[in-house]
Amino acid sequence: MHSENAIHLDWRFNAAAIIFSALLHTIDGIVRIDAAAVAHRQHNLFHADPTRLPQGACLLSCAPSGARLYWRLMSENLVIRNTCRICDSRELHLVLDLGRTPLANAYLKSAEEIASEQWYPLTVRWCARCHLLQLAEVIAPEVLFSHYLYASGFADAFHAHNRALVKQIKKQFGLKRNAQIIEVASNDGSLLKAYQAAGLRNVLGVEPASNLAAMANQAGVPTLNQFFNERVARELRDERGAAEVVHAHNVLAHVDDIRGFVRGAATLLDDEGVFVVEAPYLIDFLLRGEYDTIYHEHLSYLAVEPMARLYCDCGLEIRHVERLAIHGGSIRVFGCQPKNRKLRMQDSVAEMLALERAHRTHSLEGLLPLAEQAARQKRELRGLLEQLKREGKRVAAYGAPAKGNTLLNYCQIGTDLIAYTVDRSPLKQGLLTPGMHLPIHPPAKLLQDQPDYVVILAWNFADEIMAQQAKYRARGGRFILPIPKPVIVE
Ligand SMILES: [Zn+2]
Repeated sequence: MHSENAIHLDWRFNAAAIIFSALLHTIDGIVRIDAAAVAHRQHNLFHADPTRLPQGACLLSCAPSGARLYWRLMSENLVIRNTCRICDSRELHLVLDLGRTPLANAYLKSAEEIASEQWYPLTVRWCARCHLLQLAEVIAPEVLFSHYLYASGFADAFHAHNRALVKQIKKQFGLKRNAQIIEVASNDGSLLKAYQAAGLRNVLGVEPASNLAAMANQAGVPTLNQFFNERVARELRDERGAAEVVHAHNVLAHVDDIRGFVRGAATLLDDEGVFVVEAPYLIDFLLRGEYDTIYHEHLSYLAVEPMARLYCDCGLEIRHVERLAIHGGSIRVFGCQPKNRKLRMQDSVAEMLALERAHRTHSLEGLLPLAEQAARQKRELRGLLEQLKREGKRVAAYGAPAKGNTLLNYCQIGTDLIAYTVDRSPLKQGLLTPGMHLPIHPPAKLLQDQPDYVVILAWNFADEIMAQQAKYRARGGRFILPIPKPVIVE
């Protein structure tokens, strides 16, 4: 690490000259950067584009005047942050270390790619000030999300979920036919399609993955292929006017510049509009020991308490929260401008805050059992699979979700214990899972091959999968649910 490195910043938002009095120190490989004069807080680290910086270079986005940010740049695509992404506190405590793992969606096309596979540390930390549970490791979003293999439309449960939500929102907010609906990270456009089907045609998706944006556009859902941020929000507002509904489903937890993202939503939102966020819920994550949902895309493990602080900092207010069964337990958070009169404060917000207190998510002690639970699950699952192997049983898996890769890598389960997996998504068929390299086949393989046991890696769709595989079960096949504790379904 060269302490003489010049810092060059590509500053998009602030036209005024920014004078850095940057002081670089190298302390045990940690580069410390003191920024003396920085004008704005609206930073997005990755708009400085770390993918273009040489290894060992330093980068810094804007910070409050005099603030110090501590970063360690491990490789061109990885930054380890030492400050909380909601409140900037440096009091981040280690809760769980999952070791080194490849990116959970970095499927390999062939065995030749194994040698060049990239592995990254994966640790979960808890902020003592705002109580956000979060990853320290930040991978450049261009690496994670520019081409994305998770197309939500492949799961039947989603369609019903979307239809019900559209019906609820349309009724609750009395949406007129020309109401503008914008969905950020709109994936393949499934939710907006449900709006179109309900007669609301003024929809727009914003989706960073070019393959998914193309799928959505082909399906008749207008979609911009972009990352969402404050600048994009301002442009959309100028061009199209305010939105009555802004959706952000399963994306808030993925964003490093979480404040810029929520400020962007606030910019887009009509005074009487509603900002609907769905995200996996910390309490379900803890109760069900869903450590496998930890991977580099999931930067935050959200709860209402830190979100309320975040919204407040960004000029919004949380008025209602619902709990959902989807994705192993999620919350649907309804936010709006404080002056909004359509969406009144519901008791649900205080109830959820009380629930989080009861689970002690405001204390480090409340979160530490997560590590013990993960270690126990690993021992038990490996023990079961090793026993089945000794008995000469044949074991396969169902699903190649990102979380399956955290589980396989953390438990070190390769083709010696699970021969292959199957997945309905043609985008994944023919590939190898990252790290453990299980081949991915179409689901039809289960009936051709009839393995004795199938581990459901996509356990959030277990009921649907087992119903689809009734024939496999009728022939004597058995399923194993791996989380929170391995269980054989008779
Ligand atoms: Zn914090």
